[in-house]
Amino acid sequence: MTGDCLFCKIVAKELDSETIHESDSVLAFQDINPAAPTHILVIPKKHVASAADLGGDDGPLLAEIFETIGKLAKDSGVDSYRVVTNVGSDAGQTVHHLHFHLIGGRSMSWPPG
Ligand code: 5GP
Ligand code: ZN
Repeated sequence: MTGDCLFCKIVAKELDSETIHESDSVLAFQDINPAAPTHILVIPKKHVASAADLGGDDGPLLAEIFETIGKLAKDSGVDSYRVVTNVGSDAGQTVHHLHFHLIGGRSMSWPPG
């Protein structure tokens, strides 16, 4: 847990979230401001500031995160979806705790804005 981190507070249950899935290392919850019918955030419970801060030891954690994303997409009934992680403010990162957006349930354009 790092002091002021919003998602560390969600992990610690100091802030409410609509939890969808939880394991020892990973938490998935509904995005508070959904950008699509399905918009789930999948995060490591440990604080990692962004994908730029992942290391070689994080392989199993990432494998679990992507396995979770696949299962949650299936559970949500979406077979076409986007997985996004923003790194840095210019890319749109507003919460500096690594999170993967699982977004689906509508058609999307490319490239993103
Ligand atoms: P970012 O912009 O950093 O890639 O994504 C942050 C995401 O976190 C946004 O989609 C935003 O709606 C979501 N978010 C921000 N604050 C909260 C919160 O308190 N609870 C939940 N469930 N989602 C949040
Ligand atoms: Zn954090």
